Amino acid sequence: MPHSKDAPIGITTLEDISALILQSHDLNETLRNIVALVARRMRADVCSIYLLDYDQQTLRLRATKGLSRRAVGKVTMQIGEGLTGMAAQERHPVAIKEPENHPRYRYFKETGEEKFHSFLGIPLFDRNAPLGVIVLQNRELRDFRKEEISALSTIAFQVSSIVVNARLLDSIRAKEEEARQVAAQLEVARQSLAVRETAKSPTGVSALTGTVAYPGVANGAAVILQERLGFADILHEDAIDSEVELRRLDSALEKTTIQTLFLEKRVAERLSESDAAIFHTHLMILEDRSFIEKLRNEIRQGHGAPYALEKVVAGYIEAFSRMDDAYLRERAADMEDIGRRLLANLVGNGSDHLLQIRHPGILVARQLLPSDMAALDAERILGIVTEVGEQNSHAVIMAKSMGISTLVAVRGLLKAVAPDDELILDANSGRLYINPPAAIRKEYRRLIADQSREQSRLEEFRERPARTADGTRITLRANIGLISDIEVAHRFGAEGVGLYRTEFPYMARGDFPNRDDQYELYRRVVEGFAGQPVTIRTLDIGGDKVLPYFAPPDEDNPFMGWRSVRVSLDNRDIFRTQIEAILMAAQHGPVRLLFPMISSLDEVRACRAVIAEAQSVLRRARLPHARNLPMGVMIEVPAAVRLVTRLAREVDFFALGTNDLIQYLLAADRNNPLVSKYYDPLHPAVLQAIAEVVANAASFNRNVCLCGEMATDPHNLLALLGMGLREFSMPAPYIPRTKAFLAGISLDYARQAWNEVAELDTSTEIHEKLGQMIDAIPAVR
Ligand code: PEP
Ligand code: MG
Repeated sequence: MPHSKDAPIGITTLEDISALILQSHDLNETLRNIVALVARRMRADVCSIYLLDYDQQTLRLRATKGLSRRAVGKVTMQIGEGLTGMAAQERHPVAIKEPENHPRYRYFKETGEEKFHSFLGIPLFDRNAPLGVIVLQNRELRDFRKEEISALSTIAFQVSSIVVNARLLDSIRAKEEEARQVAAQLEVARQSLAVRETAKSPTGVSALTGTVAYPGVANGAAVILQERLGFADILHEDAIDSEVELRRLDSALEKTTIQTLFLEKRVAERLSESDAAIFHTHLMILEDRSFIEKLRNEIRQGHGAPYALEKVVAGYIEAFSRMDDAYLRERAADMEDIGRRLLANLVGNGSDHLLQIRHPGILVARQLLPSDMAALDAERILGIVTEVGEQNSHAVIMAKSMGISTLVAVRGLLKAVAPDDELILDANSGRLYINPPAAIRKEYRRLIADQSREQSRLEEFRERPARTADGTRITLRANIGLISDIEVAHRFGAEGVGLYRTEFPYMARGDFPNRDDQYELYRRVVEGFAGQPVTIRTLDIGGDKVLPYFAPPDEDNPFMGWRSVRVSLDNRDIFRTQIEAILMAAQHGPVRLLFPMISSLDEVRACRAVIAEAQSVLRRARLPHARNLPMGVMIEVPAAVRLVTRLAREVDFFALGTNDLIQYLLAADRNNPLVSKYYDPLHPAVLQAIAEVVANAASFNRNVCLCGEMATDPHNLLALLGMGLREFSMPAPYIPRTKAFLAGISLDYARQAWNEVAELDTSTEIHEKLGQMIDAIPAVR
């Protein structure tokens, strides 16, 4: 890491966290990396993350740097219990010196907690709902400064969105969970069947167990991956000519490097750049001077190149295997992979690096290495079972990206399975059935058919444009805030960005970013979407979003106060600088400029004046920039709803910010759980207001994109489509199922839903009506 120990926590930390998320492959790994990074940057002896279990009551320690690792997953507390529980309960940062003296203090002996003299707990939220707490502890007495609390709150905000996203992905897999339950029932049936079978035949049903690395069910013939040449095959050679051996080594290094480049390219094409990064690491090792020097030294001491290789690689593998961290331990497999490929090139069969699979089947191997995964024909692999290996291995990570059901650590696998045995891989319950009886096969085949129908249904939608059943094209874009969201948006098939919330990067810094920093950031986003439109919204601070370096005024009503475009217009230099950066970034792709919280035409004209100023600054400085950006405003204040026809004469497009619009129309704070029942997207006043915007914008031929959360719920979506909306922007993981939902309804049906709902007087009736209409859609039931 390029930061000194004392570097202030700032954008680098947030960007580093984004990078960590990109590199991480599951929630636990991400949390582990985050606590390590935050502890270092915030100079804390302990950083821990507690998350609420699905029961919404129990806080569980999910990751820690500084407390005993054994406590992870085990230490739990109720909301309100101890200081951590207190932070969750009070929904406020809790900063306490000498925590032991605090009446709410509780000691958890499993954590190996020493005496800590300072405690800082910041709650994590998903909008209104508590998610968990991030905690810092120090041995010395420490005053957490206001900026530090604020910086940690920003990180807490980001951790929250990671957790929410991970849980969203979980719910996408809910179908698989159902399958798991069916499989469990089947297992009961299987056992009773096994008893009967055993009575008939002494062998019964043979099932091995292992660890689920990627869930799902598969059925097929065993394809056994033969062990390639290993170090055990090396004979110690005498009478060595060192010069010859050194040349052999050089040539093997060169060949292996070329092959690795080939593998990297192949994986980048098939999977993603981030998966291919594994081979980048391999290349770095192959070019690492100390690695090469160690090999040469062994040869100079009179050993043959293969023996030198074995010794050096074994040393590295040993060192990696002793690491505490599971992720680093798994890097031993990468070292072994490099060693094997080098060895194959040394002894002359290195060109055979593409493995052939004759027929589709379930791959059975002692261990898979990343290069195996790159070389295998993934289309023919129905499932993977390995005898060794952990869930963090790169090969398994790649299997996950390909969506292949995988079971690892299945003891006795290679002894039990023969080529072409019929296998049922149940990577939901962690079982592998070898030549199971007909009844089991039949049940699983049915299950597999259901599973693959559902999966291919969603996957199919991810790739193709969103359309209703009658073929009407709907546009689904992503809401993003950070660089790491780009990858997520692509993964879920977003058509560009409907809302880029630029305040997130501002929130993580020690002061306002300069124009170049902002330009760099926006350019990365714009280029990341390669020609797809990106709607960049100017700063929307205030309300619940506070910048650490921009002290918020003491307001009784921050949401009704100095917020959003009001702050920007009162800080013209800052505002103009941001617009300059956006205009510069807009040379790199189609950008649309969006102003938040507009409530009058005066504000729109003032914004236009700032754009003109920004353009003239850039012209004078001869800096390349885009000249004519489409300019739009958010409709999120009731005043703007009533002004749409007038606004339409002055702007190019509208973005419906229903998150705020609902709170302002219904006088119900979007973040206050006490009034959450009043915060209702299906309130007739909300629907009428949206319909008014849509109709008036259409009469002026102005595009409207709805970018509030309400579009993610099919009930709301049905009404919104019916009233004429055709473009939505949402958190990207919702996109595939939204497409699937759209494909199951016709526009006529949506119009009928809206016409009926528009006549209803109460939320209760509207909820009921839409519920019935959704239930009546075959594809959704
Ligand atoms: C909204 O208000 O609906 C919106 C999209 O903006 P934000 O959630 O950032 O306030
Ligand atoms: Mg808003």
